[in-house]
Amino acid sequence: MSTQNLSPEPPSEWAGGSLTPATAELAAARIAGASPLERLIALREVVPGKIVFTTSFGIEDQMIAHLIFANKIDIEVSTLDTGRLFPSTYATWAKTEETYGVRIKSHHPDPRELTRLIADIGINGFYHSKEGRTACCNVRKVEPLNRALAGASAWVTGLRADQSSNRGKMALAAWDNSYALLKVSPLFDWTRAEIAAFVEAENVPVNPLHAQGFPSIGCEPCTRAIQPGEDERAGRWWWESDDTKECGLHVDKDGKLVRARQAAA
Ligand code: SF4
Repeated sequence: MSTQNLSPEPPSEWAGGSLTPATAELAAARIAGASPLERLIALREVVPGKIVFTTSFGIEDQMIAHLIFANKIDIEVSTLDTGRLFPSTYATWAKTEETYGVRIKSHHPDPRELTRLIADIGINGFYHSKEGRTACCNVRKVEPLNRALAGASAWVTGLRADQSSNRGKMALAAWDNSYALLKVSPLFDWTRAEIAAFVEAENVPVNPLHAQGFPSIGCEPCTRAIQPGEDERAGRWWWESDDTKECGLHVDKDGKLVRARQAAA
């Protein structure tokens, strides 16, 4: 692959060493200004250790999974199986494994924590209070994510800046203080239409719910179809009113969205 669109080589003194916030900034600068595939390949070349991509099998994640699997990039692909996903999401998961001949690593909620949660708030207690919803997301998503990212140097996500006003503040790559790693969103500057065109051209398996008004697909009881003109994430936790709805995967310890520092263009 040509890497002519990539920034010049980073200084040799950090190559192969552990990432720190300062070296992560150099790595971020190195992968800016390239195509998503070039970004992923360059990320693998310049970041030492384990790199984890977490997928929820949405259209953005399916494009990234395709780039990783089709090009055999050494990035671990993991998913968080909350136990409350749509049947079509499990079908997309199976179809993806079949298409690329791979296994996707799954992380599940801790059974004792899940038992405690359900005893505490009820099986659908997330509808009754924001605290209950957050507790459920913590047990079913955030704690499994901690395990998925354990020991990783970098975390690849399918976030896009134009998915919501909240995510508009993000960028390509940044040091994530919560997990002490480099967080990279190789599609942050791609539009949904561009991604849809890519997956169609490459025959990438996609969740059929996208064609039924679900641009963003999470757990079944917490996701509905959206109306024309609504924000892409309006169908997530629709009974909550604020515009900063996140499941906790992409927020810091104060509940704020982790804002990626703008990588050098
Ligand atoms: S999205 Fe809903 S069901 Fe899924 S973990 Fe969060 S509150 Fe629980």
